[in-house]
Amino acid sequence: MTENFRAILVTKEGDGKQAPQRAQLTTITIDDLMAGDVVVAVEYSTVNYKDGLVLSGTSPIIRRFPMIPGIDLAGTVESSENDNFKAGDRVLVNGWGLGEGHYGGFAQRARVKADWLIKVPEALTTSQAMAIGTAGYTAMLCILELERHGLSSDDGPVLVTGAAGGVGSVAIALLARLGFRVIASTGRMSEADYLKSLGASEIIERSELSEKGRPLDKQRWAGAVDSVGSMTLANVLARTRYGGVVAACGLAGGSDLPTTVMPFILRNVTLAGVDSVMAPKQKREQAWRRLARDLDLNKLAALSRTIGLEDTFDAAKDILAGKIRGRTIVDVNA
Ligand code: NDP
Repeated sequence: MTENFRAILVTKEGDGKQAPQRAQLTTITIDDLMAGDVVVAVEYSTVNYKDGLVLSGTSPIIRRFPMIPGIDLAGTVESSENDNFKAGDRVLVNGWGLGEGHYGGFAQRARVKADWLIKVPEALTTSQAMAIGTAGYTAMLCILELERHGLSSDDGPVLVTGAAGGVGSVAIALLARLGFRVIASTGRMSEADYLKSLGASEIIERSELSEKGRPLDKQRWAGAVDSVGSMTLANVLARTRYGGVVAACGLAGGSDLPTTVMPFILRNVTLAGVDSVMAPKQKREQAWRRLARDLDLNKLAALSRTIGLEDTFDAAKDILAGKIRGRTIVDVNA
């Protein structure tokens, strides 16, 4: 007999772009899963900003219905038709369309392509891997971009925007560990002590960067990790030191970019784009190796909390409302 297991399923009621979407906790069987060559017994997933958008039922992120959301998962291989993986291997997936075009991590089982799987680094548990999740792995990709463009801790401070969020929290912990002086920008000054405990040396108010500013302003930081976009990113660029580099990965404040070419042509500033979803495997493996080496696991524990599958709906609302601090791990078996 085929075993039932729990999954969150998003269905669409009717046709057309505007048709209402409905997300509910239900049970399915392995036969309901999509094609793939590896079956994973999922242990943990996470709630990222994108998962919040998907569960809000208003976003066009899902490309086929029904869909199991969850852009991340970590667990143990149950069965594999691919020679690179065998039962018992600890694996994780970030992105690759998980939760968008292919059934994702908010379920007790997943069947995925072997090409998408990364082996969980020895130094990390599957729970820690999901405390990092897409947000933390993206923070590492941002730092790899800063390094690729030659930024070092001797060049000056690095700004992190959206500091108390998932990308921001992990970026601060990583940068501090790598010896950078970190300036954290937050709309939640009440989280100042938390941000300092992660390694931020200075905290600035979000509003300092979110109002329309000048095309070029006083040079404040040598680099930045920006998960906010919009006017914030424009101001970040305008205050980046000569020759500095800004890694842009997010749009928590908006997807527009009302800037000028001045920071680029007068200060030689580099704007480096960061995508985690389709990043090539080699880059992912590099990022995960560095995460295992450079992330302080005590700080990771301090910036994350664990919830059950049923709590995911509330966490999704909270992340869109900017109320989540750090990272949220989903224990799909709880
Ligand atoms: P979180 O919600 O955890 O963090 C976002 C943070 O941004 C919030 O905590 C808040 O920080 C700040 N913020 C929220 N709303 C606003 C606003 N209106 N104006 C300015 N700041 C705001 O999300 P994640 O960290 O998981 O993701 C951050 C962004 O990065 C999202 O846009 C996400 O889509 C994107 N992302 C992109 C990836 C990629 O591949 N390029 C991968 C992962 C994420 P505070 O309270 O400290 O101000």
